[in-house]
Amino acid sequence: MRYSGLKVITEGLFGNKGWGPAWRNPAPKAEYDAIIIGGGGHGLSTAYYLAKNHGLTNIAVLEKGYLGSGNIGRNTTIVRANYYMPGNSEFYSHSLKLWEGLEAELNYNVMHSQRGQLILAHSDGQRDTLARRGNAMINQGDDAELWTLDQVKDFAPYLDFAQTRFPIYGGLMHKRGGTARHDAVAWGYARGADRRGVDLIQNCEVTGIDIENGVVKGVQTTRGAIRAKKVGMLVAGRSSQVAAMAGMRLPIESHVLQAFVTEGLKPIIDSVISFGMGHFYISQSDKGGLVFGGDLDFYASYAARGNLPMVEHVMEAAMTLMPMIGRAKVLRSWGGIMDMSVDGSPIIDKTHIEGLFVDAGWNYGGFKAAPASGWCMAHLMATGEPHEVARRFRLDRFRTGHVMDEEATGSQHNLH
Ligand SMILES: Cc1cc2nc3c(=O)[nH]c(=O)nc-3n(C[C@H](O)[C@H](O)[C@H](O)COP(=O)(O)OP(=O)(O)OC[C@H]3O[C@@H](n4cnc5c(N)ncnc54)[C@H](O)[C@@H]3O)c2cc1C
Repeated sequence: MRYSGLKVITEGLFGNKGWGPAWRNPAPKAEYDAIIIGGGGHGLSTAYYLAKNHGLTNIAVLEKGYLGSGNIGRNTTIVRANYYMPGNSEFYSHSLKLWEGLEAELNYNVMHSQRGQLILAHSDGQRDTLARRGNAMINQGDDAELWTLDQVKDFAPYLDFAQTRFPIYGGLMHKRGGTARHDAVAWGYARGADRRGVDLIQNCEVTGIDIENGVVKGVQTTRGAIRAKKVGMLVAGRSSQVAAMAGMRLPIESHVLQAFVTEGLKPIIDSVISFGMGHFYISQSDKGGLVFGGDLDFYASYAARGNLPMVEHVMEAAMTLMPMIGRAKVLRSWGGIMDMSVDGSPIIDKTHIEGLFVDAGWNYGGFKAAPASGWCMAHLMATGEPHEVARRFRLDRFRTGHVMDEEATGSQHNLH
């Protein structure tokens, strides 16, 4: 079924009885050409592009819970292409271009809104750094504008410009940045993959990876063994655990990141604002809730709920930046488990086991990366060669030293 405005109107007039399920619910087959472990944004987009770009349709996505139950439905929905380092820069640029056509591509309203993202500068040095980042973005073919203090004041008068601890000096505006409806992205890719014949198998946890003589043969699951010549691991915060099933130790730690949303308010914040000094970012959802987040909880954990000191830290940052937020009531907070690699950048690569591929290390940038990650992982799994924009996301870079330390914080997972 094709979705359209006309379809919404006619269904509304006739009792909404014509909508079918958005995807099938098949039982797992004994064998597939390829298996994708993980039904998050990256797993579903990989399956979609394997089918769409490479004609591989005998594929299963195995998800231990329900589709979209992981980080794809837990993030603060920020989409941008403002990375600085070669490797990250071209990859996120490619992803943003895919975002810009995603709704038409998937025939699904993912509510992609290019409302702009403003990163604030709080010192001369930081403004210089943002200027350099902006130049890199423009060289990459993306957009960036260095804004003066007056421009920021006009744009976001609710910020506290009188504070002395982190005075605002200006900012870097990325107009093509913005937000999207996170779980709609999972649903859109799921529906698109299903329509091309991909089996989406929910409540199917992978418990083992079958390997014989260095070649992958399939997986063990809570719904039985499934054979496949190619297996992709795309399990976000669980990457180390799943890779361990293949005897691999990844350079990754898992940490919780929390997010918060307030009650619905009248429109006040019409962009994404990033306050690097407080590690705080905020936008307003289409329902009116202020959606914001901060730093990781700094210890490694697989518990998808956060600690109170981080709640306090995020609230303090919010109050420092925009004291008016103190009048809003926080409705909900939640946590998601994120992969933190040693350099904070992702991995899309083959492994030393033939037929076994890894797509991991997604942390703060993993939502915006979902389209390009799927595109590049599908390319790798189908052709055996890395896609040109993901060439640097190699697993062996931690051994060879070709790391991409975007934040320049060194090799400490929780500081990226
Ligand atoms: C609070 C928060 C805010 C964030 N904000 C942003 C943001 O604003 N912008 C941005 O770009 N990124 C953001 N991120 C990061 C982003 O959400 C993640 O990096 C990204 O979603 C991870 O990829 P994914 O969608 O494939 O993960 P997931 O949705 O977590 O998918 C992985 C799936 O694998 C499944 N799985 C795990 N183990 C197994 C197994 N053994 N067998 C079968 N299935 C398994 C899980 O159940 C899960 O569904 C945020 C993350 C959090 C937690």
